[in-house]
Amino acid sequence: MPATVIKDIVKAINAGRSFFLTSHINPDGDSISCETAMALFLEQLGKRQYVIANRDGCPDLYRFLPRAGKIIKTEHVQGTFDVALILDASDIQRTGDIIDLRTQVKKVIVIDHHLSAVPFGHLNYLDQKSASCAEQIYNVIKARSKKITKDMALCLYTGLVTETNKFQEANTNPAAFRTAALLVEAGVDPNELGRQLYEENDLPQLRLLGASLSGITVSHKGQIATTIVTRQLMRQTGAGIEDTEGIIRYVRSLKGVKVAIVLREQNNGFKVSLRSKGDIDVNAVAVRFGGGGHKRAAGFFLEGSLARIKKKVFSQINKQLD
Ligand code: AMP
Ligand code: MN
Repeated sequence: MPATVIKDIVKAINAGRSFFLTSHINPDGDSISCETAMALFLEQLGKRQYVIANRDGCPDLYRFLPRAGKIIKTEHVQGTFDVALILDASDIQRTGDIIDLRTQVKKVIVIDHHLSAVPFGHLNYLDQKSASCAEQIYNVIKARSKKITKDMALCLYTGLVTETNKFQEANTNPAAFRTAALLVEAGVDPNELGRQLYEENDLPQLRLLGASLSGITVSHKGQIATTIVTRQLMRQTGAGIEDTEGIIRYVRSLKGVKVAIVLREQNNGFKVSLRSKGDIDVNAVAVRFGGGGHKRAAGFFLEGSLARIKKKVFSQINKQLD
């Protein structure tokens, strides 16, 4: 564990009075868990002057988490802060540029676990081996706090369980289970929390999933499975952008598939999500298109028509598979 940087981070937090917390655009369970747990930690230290802001706010699914209600959705944050905590975002563009770190913040702390992570802060706690960013937040809190509260544990466990897809993705390691055990000891009920996270789908979400799976196409001798989530499909099913999150897991689950692709229509192009089952490094593909992620889960956005985007993406993935 990078003990020195954790110590320095704790010192910087201790010294700060005003704090700015953010994560990446389209935040996921890990993002929200890091922000909310960090907010609870700041409060525990008596530091109540903080702003949590995400360009895309907080997904409904995670609104039940303590302090999730404090997350504001904004294109630009006003004011200045002693400390910025940039959590689970591998580079500054990933935050959606909602703040000017050079002029609005004195000390920038970056905590991240992505393969594509860039040390853009004054203090950078980067750990590619960490299954979730939540565990890194746990390590920071643990270094200073006398008590990991039940609320903190609830947040952190949410990051851990969602980022590892219930402890079964390739990032799942002994440390993930160890931290999970400590969080359960701190009061998390995995069954109750699991129900809240995975058993509360609504009808538009399931309809979108059904339609997306009906539209799967398979190529490259069954090794690539693709589905396209168009705006029209979203309209027909009544689903929102957050309802697209879990689809790719089902696409990847098809037997024989090595790379799953979901193309989601957004703005003037498509958000491309990639998942690999096996040795293919989809991060390498995503980086070529200006995105990033992990070896087996990565993403990026491309402008342009579906046909052109498909052509570009397939040619890169075909190369990886050959
Ligand atoms: P997604 O396909 O959006 O679920 O993302 C899969 C993984 O790739 C996550 O770890 C994301 O944080 C990361 N990721 C997605 N899009 C980008 C991007 N444009 N730049 C860097 N990382 C990304
Ligand atoms: Mn994330």
